Amino acid sequence: MERLQKVIAQAGITSRRKAEQLIIEGKVKVNGQVVRELGVKVTPNKDEIEVEGVPIDREEPVYYLLYKPSGVISSVSDDKGRTVVTDFLEIEQRIFPVGRLDYDTSGLILLTNDGEFANMLMHPKFKIEKVYVAKVKGIPSREALKKLQYGVMLEDGKTAPAKVKVMSIDKKKQTSIIQLTIHEGRNRQVRRMFDAIDHPVLKLKREQYSFLNLRGLNPGDARTLKPIEVKHLR
Ligand code: URA
Repeated sequence: MERLQKVIAQAGITSRRKAEQLIIEGKVKVNGQVVRELGVKVTPNKDEIEVEGVPIDREEPVYYLLYKPSGVISSVSDDKGRTVVTDFLEIEQRIFPVGRLDYDTSGLILLTNDGEFANMLMHPKFKIEKVYVAKVKGIPSREALKKLQYGVMLEDGKTAPAKVKVMSIDKKKQTSIIQLTIHEGRNRQVRRMFDAIDHPVLKLKREQYSFLNLRGLNPGDARTLKPIEVKHLR
């Protein structure tokens, strides 16, 4: 038996908070009866749950890690017919990416059909560390790198402190490879941070997401997460 709001959230329809609101508003039925109390427990796959008149079919939750190649959209469909992240997984379940990577960014992205899990990982309060490796134009000075470290001012506010590591410098080509570790997840954040110090990103890859990395995978490869990995992320 599980709490009704949890089962609704896990179906990927909405967050647990919104599920609670829907219940209070009388928009949820269990076995044909409207349920307005939040304490109700249900048996998934046995009790019939309807949200706003639509039955939820609760699939087994699945969790995948994809090495997204550059030139792929972090979405489940694209009206221009471009490749999307779900094209790399031939599975029955309707999965979606946890957050997004830009079209031109490669690297680690999680996919799941567990809405609650995805919402939790994306919530700023969990401060999940993400490690990016950026090839940038020019050779940033120590002061410029310090700005990244302490926080730079972007249109949507100052960034939180970040870890910065210079991996290599190509003096001839005037480019640098820099590892940047952040826990925020604003739109195009890494690119905007490097723009703010006048060293635009030429190439970007996400190498780590929390304790997960891309070891053993090539671009386009995916693997399921081990139950212990899912447990550690929760
Ligand atoms: N920051 C970016 O700028 N792009 C990404 O894809 C991810 C983080």
